[in-house]
Amino acid sequence: MSSFSHNQETAERYLQRFQQNTTGHFINGQMVSSAGAESYENLSPIDNESLGKVLAGSAEDMDAACVAAENAFPEWRDMPGQERKKLLNHFADLIEARAEEIALVESSDCGQAIRFMKQAAIRGAANFRFFADKAPEAQNGLALHQAEHTNYTLRSPIGPVGIITPWNTPFMLATWKIAPALAAGCTIVHKPAELTPLSAMLLAEIAHEAGLPAGVWNTVNGFGETVGKRLSEHPAIRAVALVGESATGSHIMRQGADTLKRVHFELGGKNPVIVFDDADFERALDAVVFMIYSLNGQRCTSSSRLLIQNSIKDKFLAALEERVKNLTVGHPLDPNTEVGPLVHKGHYEKVMSYMDIAKQDGATVRVGGVARKDLGAGNYVSPTLFTEADNSMRIAREEIFGPVLTSIGFDTEEEAIALANDTDYGLSGYIWTNNSGRAMRMARAVEAGMLWVNSENNRNLPSPFGGIKMSGIGRDGGDYSFDFYMETKNVCIAHGTHKVPVLGA
Ligand code: NAD
Repeated sequence: MSSFSHNQETAERYLQRFQQNTTGHFINGQMVSSAGAESYENLSPIDNESLGKVLAGSAEDMDAACVAAENAFPEWRDMPGQERKKLLNHFADLIEARAEEIALVESSDCGQAIRFMKQAAIRGAANFRFFADKAPEAQNGLALHQAEHTNYTLRSPIGPVGIITPWNTPFMLATWKIAPALAAGCTIVHKPAELTPLSAMLLAEIAHEAGLPAGVWNTVNGFGETVGKRLSEHPAIRAVALVGESATGSHIMRQGADTLKRVHFELGGKNPVIVFDDADFERALDAVVFMIYSLNGQRCTSSSRLLIQNSIKDKFLAALEERVKNLTVGHPLDPNTEVGPLVHKGHYEKVMSYMDIAKQDGATVRVGGVARKDLGAGNYVSPTLFTEADNSMRIAREEIFGPVLTSIGFDTEEEAIALANDTDYGLSGYIWTNNSGRAMRMARAVEAGMLWVNSENNRNLPSPFGGIKMSGIGRDGGDYSFDFYMETKNVCIAHGTHKVPVLGA
């Protein structure tokens, strides 16, 4: 049997239970499937057939989850860090034990090619292990000395938190946000994206199996405008971490205003990859292709704007054209597939609409620009390259979030910086040059939370991850995550020598 057929057959087996039973919620340690409650069909990106029904949670469901997280908080907060470490490492073992199931379910639900999704469980488990090991030291602070006083700081978990995640790499992102919250000692309510609920339920099952006390982990399925809104408004929830669109961040900020929610936002991007004529041509070409056409271009850090120095523009675009034409679009479970179907019909239509927008604005569709109807009823689009674009065009300004690259020429370093920064977003940037002085100048000047020099999106868990401008607020990674999920308390102790002010003597 080919590995494609093996993947299909195995995936079918794993998906069967979601087709036979409505996917519910996980609240206070119990799977909840409220009979007669509202539900919706979760459609497959592969053929737009139903993968099963999912409960569209209500505000009451969300209230129950938030109260459960509130009640579970004191016990979880007071559990010694060493014990949380043990539990969370066990959680990581259980993720790894279900790696094949997670990869196949994830790929089928969100349309990302299996060649990338087979890493989902491994990366998810790594997120758990990394933060599990930090759990015992999360409360540590600083000692700050004065002549007659000593200050020390200590950190304690902020309380129950809301985690709201998107559909593009749902499993990995959920673990990335939830692992540090749990390690810090927070309890959580997870609201997964309505378009990709399945791997979140696998995580909830693992939470149960790992022996997390009831209420420490809660998952409520449903729509942003109902359960997501209620989560960000709920008075028991102290902070909300969102990965999603910039507009959703604005909604959550408004919704959380009355209860003064602390927020952490990882939002959209229109990230530039800047290629100078002194760059390593082949490595830059590989990275440019990888960073927009992998993960279907549905990646927040995708380099969707290529800024290419005019002295090598023709040669680079010719080589790029060949590579883009050669990409393998297909079924996400086929190991040969490089670009799979887009997550949902609505998103596919949004991406396709940019093909006309590009032409209307005067750009050239050099490769692609069409739907791949020959691949069936799924949401397949051909990898697309726009040339002869300028930065005022919508294809250069708006986050398309598909396998679609807009290229723009530039002459000088100053021009490259101006183009890179002429955007509302500021998530990431990529700089390709073999001139180290130029690399340093560019890294300082480009407005983004993360810059990679002569590299694609290499991830280092202790490093800060996040954006500026409309791309986000706050940083994840290492101790940065604990700063968000914890409160810092200062304790000031006198040495007994200072003069206490005397009044009314
Ligand atoms: P989205 O903003 O539409 O949805 C994200 C989540 O927010 C979903 O769970 C949704 O139900 C919920 N939501 C929607 N409205 C809400 C509301 N009013 N209140 C509370 N919750 C609400 O985003 P998406 O379309 O699922 O994902 C794609 C977006 O995510 C892109 O913009 C992408 O750049 C961004 N993203 C960013 C990062 C990052 O690290 N910066 C990573 C991945 C994806």
